[in-house]
Amino acid sequence: MLACRIHGVEDLRVESLPEPEVGPGDVCLKLGAGGICGSDMHYFLHGRAGNFVIREPLIPGHEASGTVVKVGPGVTRVKEGDKVAINPSHACGGCRACRLGRENLCDSMRFLGSASLFPHVQGMFREYFVIGERQCYPVASAATLGELAFAEPLSVALHAVNRAGSLLGKSILVTGAGPIGCLIVMAARLAGAVHVVVTDVVEHPLAVAKTVGADRCIRVDQLPTGTGTLADAVGEADTAFEVSGSPAALATCLATVLRGGRIVQVGTLPAEGLHFPANQIMVREMDYMGTFRFGVEFDCSVRYLAERRVDVQPLVSGQYPLQNAEGAFRSASDRGRSMKVQVVCG
Ligand SMILES: [Zn+2]
Ligand SMILES: [Zn+2]
Repeated sequence: MLACRIHGVEDLRVESLPEPEVGPGDVCLKLGAGGICGSDMHYFLHGRAGNFVIREPLIPGHEASGTVVKVGPGVTRVKEGDKVAINPSHACGGCRACRLGRENLCDSMRFLGSASLFPHVQGMFREYFVIGERQCYPVASAATLGELAFAEPLSVALHAVNRAGSLLGKSILVTGAGPIGCLIVMAARLAGAVHVVVTDVVEHPLAVAKTVGADRCIRVDQLPTGTGTLADAVGEADTAFEVSGSPAALATCLATVLRGGRIVQVGTLPAEGLHFPANQIMVREMDYMGTFRFGVEFDCSVRYLAERRVDVQPLVSGQYPLQNAEGAFRSASDRGRSMKVQVVCG
């Protein structure tokens, strides 16, 4: 079978690997569609994603859907031929975080397609892979495998919105209009936000944000300079989602969120040397909080997609066969024309 493996910086190969064996409680899936995420891009372009460094060939991919081709002994949740959304996280279930119901913070999380552990937990950009049945969510509706591959990033957006608390009647700001920013726009609408402003420094993702529900989209790099211009342009927000990972965007959030408001950090900020007007957090009594991956949100994410309560189609900018995974990664790296690029298996 074919598998896409990253060996190092810009060294991605589509190689032949043996097909996996199915054990008790396991399910063998054929890849349907797999979305390329920012962390996959980091592994490809830099050989690392934050602190996670590639130390052996890594099969990327944690946003995928598939079709069941074989089930191991004892499996009851799915059967051969089922179309499934796949939860890439496998928490231990026993540590303190898991027992508190915060499994995304599990001490021993095994997350597919991640170099956080060694040996790495291999991902889903391959023809066939085996995972535990509880990570498979069968879907009988007309939702396509391409749509179901959004279950993971939509879960990230839903978890960020859950972290923000009630958004009913609130004005929100989203800094960063990429796929996660756009999914947060949709999730915030579902949660009752009345006004949504999105900022970015690239035109194309802002245009997509508009089609998925943003009221106003602002190119922050094109504002005239001067005190107050940014706050005037962006307006006031009760809650901000900082999705870009840019310190300048965090400063935008701090300058525009109302006193007593909340900022949810979604994007990955630089690991060191961060400068931002932190004193605003104290003098304006703001809540600044993080959000990491997702937990139980995966369940309702699959329902929203299966029942088409959210429309993710405007976010798909291309599908490439697994054989041309490199083309998919090259295309995904161009924010000027790409949003979510998927690798598919016919
Ligand atoms: Zn992702
Ligand atoms: Zn745990």
